[in-house]
Amino acid sequence: MNYENEQAMPANEHARAKRLIDQHHVEGLAAQERAWLDAHLQDCGDCAAFAHSTEEALRAMRTAAIPFPAGLASRTQFRVHLRAQQLLEREPRRLAVWAVAGMSWVLGIATAPYVWQLFSWVGERLHVPKLVWELGFGLWWLIPASIAGAILLVENPRDRFSDASRRR
Ligand SMILES: [Zn+2]
Repeated sequence: MNYENEQAMPANEHARAKRLIDQHHVEGLAAQERAWLDAHLQDCGDCAAFAHSTEEALRAMRTAAIPFPAGLASRTQFRVHLRAQQLLEREPRRLAVWAVAGMSWVLGIATAPYVWQLFSWVGERLHVPKLVWELGFGLWWLIPASIAGAILLVENPRDRFSDASRRR
């Protein structure tokens, strides 16, 4: 798919790219989609920047880096919500998993600063080493996401990616 310049690229190509970027982080991509997205990101600075900022936002959440940039957090919540709606239309079966994952994210983001303070306060009161309560906070953060991830893995019918495609 070669275009002479970015302006010649239809707008829905960018929309598809952004959708695949989300999907990449959530469910992984089939090899074909992956290749298409890589090619698009090479040609399109806007979408490459979008992919990068999404990556950064997710990394910030995974490492529980606080404070989150406010815009990134709310944007990510919004995207989780949108994604859940898309899945409701196409794959109602998986919506429950998504609802759980989405809720845990939204709640996690919303409550993270308070929980962090709580862990910090309890840690200091009980004279727990900083590393220990930081680990505790990390676990609190990871467990809902891990459970949702495990359910997604178990739920994915194996034959869906049987055409030798790699999910990543
Ligand atoms: Zn684009």
